[in-house]
Order: sequence, then structure tokens, then C-alpha cells
Amino acid sequence: MSAMNQDRKTLIVANWKMHLNVHQSSLLLHRLNERIKIHRNIEVILAPSMLSLQPLSLELDRRKFKLAAQDAYFKDEGGYTGEVSFAMLGDLVEYCIVGHSSRRIYFGETLETVRDKVQAAVRNGITPIICIGETKQDRDAGEGRQVIHDQLTTALMNVTSRDLDKIVLVYEPVWAISTFDGIMAKPDDVEKAIAYMRMQIRELYGERAATKISILYGGSVNDTDVHGYLEVPGVDGALVGAASLNYHQFSAMVDVAYRMRLKV
Ligand code: PEP
Repeated sequence: MSAMNQDRKTLIVANWKMHLNVHQSSLLLHRLNERIKIHRNIEVILAPSMLSLQPLSLELDRRKFKLAAQDAYFKDEGGYTGEVSFAMLGDLVEYCIVGHSSRRIYFGETLETVRDKVQAAVRNGITPIICIGETKQDRDAGEGRQVIHDQLTTALMNVTSRDLDKIVLVYEPVWAISTFDGIMAKPDDVEKAIAYMRMQIRELYGERAATKISILYGGSVNDTDVHGYLEVPGVDGALVGAASLNYHQFSAMVDVAYRMRLKV
């Protein structure tokens, strides 16, 4: 029997990263729309580039898909040339990825930047999908737990118990991501890290919060291995990168999640 928790929805997030122009994004949405059915317990969240959010918001079937931004700036407005704020995204998206490893590594986002972005998301009614995870260097140095602890506790520093209902966490082992030439994580490693994250939530917010919060797996997955990660106890879905650009693969992954929920 699958370990999927029936009280929490399954979330499958497509992070298209810096790929696809507006026309290509629209085409991919169209292909996904043909293949993906409405599932009551499964939320399919698309995170296209900032440029494609507006056009896709007009095209997509909101019963099937939700939209996420890949990032936003933590100030609501001002002289921050080139930035887009959470306040501006408020009417457009339900979710925003925050603290993705690309942001932390390529754009130098600190623990505090991520904390401020989480606050800005909550303030503007957007659910942050907060990515937490150690790099290969952290892991090799035996500091994985410490990094997870520090990223998680800082990100949630100003988040109240009430706000926590509108937070999604992702365990994103950076050593298992294609962008950084990652290797496949073992389900056992994922289980331990996610149990550790839930324990942190229990310590900060109590048992009910730890049981309620959604935690996704954010290392590389594809349509053949996603089942193995979704059945890891404590995993409520996946943040999919490269494989989400392929509509056959991505819709097959949603289908795997669907069948797993039917079986329980
Ligand atoms: C990601 O960057 O969020 C990710 C999961 O990447 P990939 O699936 O490409 O490894």
C-alpha cells in the first residue's frame, strides 16, 4: 500500500526554469491540458517564466492547473529596477517558489533574503513553495542536517502557526538536481531528510502543524522513477525540473500520482 497521506493533497509542480518563450509556454500548456484530467486530490502547479504568467493565466483551466512564479522580490514597490514584487503577482498566481537552489547559488540569496521573500509572499496572499536542501559540499562535510535546520528555521522565522497553513516545503537536495550534475537520491535519504524537516516543524509549531504541512521532493525525477519517491513516507508530491518540459513525461508523472491515490 502506498504511504501517501490522505489528509494532504498531492502537489506536482512543474518548474520550467528559464526555458520557453510565451508562445512555447502556451503550446506546452495546451499539450498538458489535452492529457491531464481534473483530480480532486492532486494539484498540478505550473511555474513558467515571469513573462508567460500573464498570458497563461488567461488560457489555463483553473480547475486543472494553478500558477506559480519562480521567484519575486520581497519589497512591495519602489526603486528596484528590474524586479517584480509579490504584491504585483497577487492577482496572478497562487504560489511562488522561494529559495530555489538556483537562486541561492547563482544569485547569492542568503537565509535572510529567503526569510524576507517568505514574509512578502504571506503578506500578499501567495503560498511560498520554500526549497530547502544541502549541497554536495555540505553533505560531504557532514553538515547536511545543520544546513536544513538553518534554512528551515530562518525561512519560517516570522511565520505564525496560522500562516503555516499557507506554506509548502520542498526537500531539494542540491546534489540530486540536473542543473548541478546531480546523482539520484536514494528514497531512504529522502525519507530521513523529510522526517527531519517534519521534526523541526513539530518543535516549532507542534504536532498538528507537523502532520498538516505539505513537503515535496525536489530532486530530479522522471516518469519512471517518480513512483519510488512519491511512495516515500512523508512525501506529498514533487517539484519537477527538466522533465516537466516534456509533456509526455510530465503528464505521465501526474498520472502516476493519480493512480497512487486511487490505490490507497
Ligand atoms: C529543479 O531545478 O527544481 C529540479 C528539480 O531540477 P531537475 O528536475 O532538472 O533536476
